[in-house]
Amino acid sequence: GTAISFEGVGKTYPKAGGLVTALEGVDLSVPEGSITGIIGRSGAGKSTLLRMVNGLERPTEGRVLVAGHDVGRARGGALRGIRRDVGMIFQHFNLLASRSVRGNVALPLEIAGLPRARIRARVDELIDQVGLTALADRYPAELSGGQKQRVGIARALATGPKVLLSDEATSALDPETTQTVLELLSRINRDLGLTVLLITHEMAVLRDIASHMAVIEAGRIVESGPTYGIFA
Ligand code: ADP
Ligand code: ADP
Repeated sequence: GTAISFEGVGKTYPKAGGLVTALEGVDLSVPEGSITGIIGRSGAGKSTLLRMVNGLERPTEGRVLVAGHDVGRARGGALRGIRRDVGMIFQHFNLLASRSVRGNVALPLEIAGLPRARIRARVDELIDQVGLTALADRYPAELSGGQKQRVGIARALATGPKVLLSDEATSALDPETTQTVLELLSRINRDLGLTVLLITHEMAVLRDIASHMAVIEAGRIVESGPTYGIFA
């Protein structure tokens, strides 16, 4: 099936008395269980596209469906439900400096209002999944970049999402650490059956883990399909 579909999606932002077009006529299906990579230069529209999947941006034209739900029209409880189903990780990790590894991973569960005992058990399980059990009481400042990103991944998985969004998650990491994070994403994709949608400006990232990819140029998808076909 299809995890995410973009149907005739356009997006303009207001800018100095006019409009800037970030996306135009985007049609794209992200297959369920795929690792789909979106590649393009800076300013091509990658972040805008990604942020529509969890409702951080709304399309000005067309629609974005996640598991059949129209994200752009969702409000209130429906939007919160979609956000529980869509985790996100970031280039600069976005961890809270004042909270330990446990505290950061617990955050989405606290927001969801889970009972303390459930949070504790779930946090331990998540930290174990990303291999950080020995570092659970450390603070972000005491972690390497790769360790911080693993905290980000555990936090993104906390609510049991079906989709994981990755916004240049390895761009701030050295090549070796990039590999370990990509391997973790592959394992999560395989073991949890999670659909991964990632954006990158690095072809190597796609070559290493993406089953499907799309190339975006100046707000338009210029090529998309299984990665083997495009690299061939
Ligand atoms: P990418 O992630 O590929 O670098 P973006 O989606 O961030 O691309 O940006 C696409 C275009 O939209 C760029 O021209 C950018 O300047 C513009 N843009 C992005 N976000 C905003 C915003 N909040 N306000 C105005 N323009 C924006
Ligand atoms: P912080 O100091 O970052 O606030 P805490 O450890 O005090 O972190 O608590 C933050 C969250 O982590 C709480 O929601 C709590 O449920 C959870 N937590 C605290 N201690 C443990 C623990 N031993 N095992 C698992 N989760 C814990």
